[in-house]
Amino acid sequence: MRTGSMRVAEISLPAIRHNVQRVRELTGGRVIVVVKADGYGHGARIAAQAALAGGASMVATADIEEALALREAGIEAPILCWLHGVGADFGQAVAARIEVGVSHAQQLEALAAAAREQGTTATAQLKLDTGLSRNGAAPEEWPALFARAAELQRAGLVRVSGVFSHLANAGDAHDRAQAARFDEGVALLRASGIEPEMIHLAASAATLTSPHLHYNTVRVGVIAYGLSPLADRSSAQLGLIPAMTLRSEIVALRGVPAGTGVSYGFNHVCETATTLALVPMGYADGMPRALNGAGAWVTVAGEHRPIVGRIGMDQFIVDVGPLAGRLELGERVVLFGDPERGHPPVEIWAGLMRTINYEIVAGIGPRVLRVPA
Ligand code: PLP
Repeated sequence: MRTGSMRVAEISLPAIRHNVQRVRELTGGRVIVVVKADGYGHGARIAAQAALAGGASMVATADIEEALALREAGIEAPILCWLHGVGADFGQAVAARIEVGVSHAQQLEALAAAAREQGTTATAQLKLDTGLSRNGAAPEEWPALFARAAELQRAGLVRVSGVFSHLANAGDAHDRAQAARFDEGVALLRASGIEPEMIHLAASAATLTSPHLHYNTVRVGVIAYGLSPLADRSSAQLGLIPAMTLRSEIVALRGVPAGTGVSYGFNHVCETATTLALVPMGYADGMPRALNGAGAWVTVAGEHRPIVGRIGMDQFIVDVGPLAGRLELGERVVLFGDPERGHPPVEIWAGLMRTINYEIVAGIGPRVLRVPA
């Protein structure tokens, strides 16, 4: 059993609903919300439920196991997944009515075999590589793949419900080249006798920057969680609400004299007498250890206070000197959340770590309790 509020990621379901509604307003078409990697760290089931409540038509994961876990958790909506291991179990995917992203001929045959075995029709979405050079069928494979897909569709074994691709950038010339290649692929698919219901290319960045790439569906992850994929625009500027508030609590308070060394290696030494607060979260929970000495801060009793000393596996220290008389054990510490509510934005950590907000939220560890809020 897990108790207490030592390590909590509060997930605002209204924020996710709002963000998905915002995407629907922006695009006017169908929205697929990507909930891979445990919903970008937010909890796949609760993220999927909130996204669907916000009007998403479908949720998506990277692999079949993630998709099956959502079915087992009671998500009945359409689910798409697109990245398959060598021995991927298409049989289970077909039985669970999961739409399988198909990147090459062997996957199509394996899917058809699973459908034949179960006496049913499998649903596929064809994934095209239009220039990202990751998974997806390469243009030279399209004619044979599409012809075979059309044959299997006529035989009632595979229904092709969609075609999609993924962009390398957003809003530049490479995108235009990828979109042109995608258009060629869609035209060839139609010429092969397949009319896909869902046509999707844009993820979050292109959804925001490139309305001409919306087709009839967009496939978004990070903006559904209220985070900005654009370096020069904040969540608030985009009308998004960050859904995750990462919080902990003060479990010890200690007054110390000037000259006190803090945590491993004493790479922080208190210049004056102060009060140190111990917070039970660490790098095992997804706090980058290298935040140490980089100027990261948290909010305690509504005030910004600095993280001092090395971050341990399970705990870190905050200098709460000016607040000392006002604090009690159990006082809430917010590591990041919605800056509109006075919390540090996750982008501070991402910036200090020279990474992206995606990596920080997806890296929040399993000891952190996801609590719907
Ligand atoms: N589509 C694919 C194929 C992806 O791999 C991802 C995420 O990496 C997404 C969509 C969602 O991307 P974003 O979170 O930028 O919207």
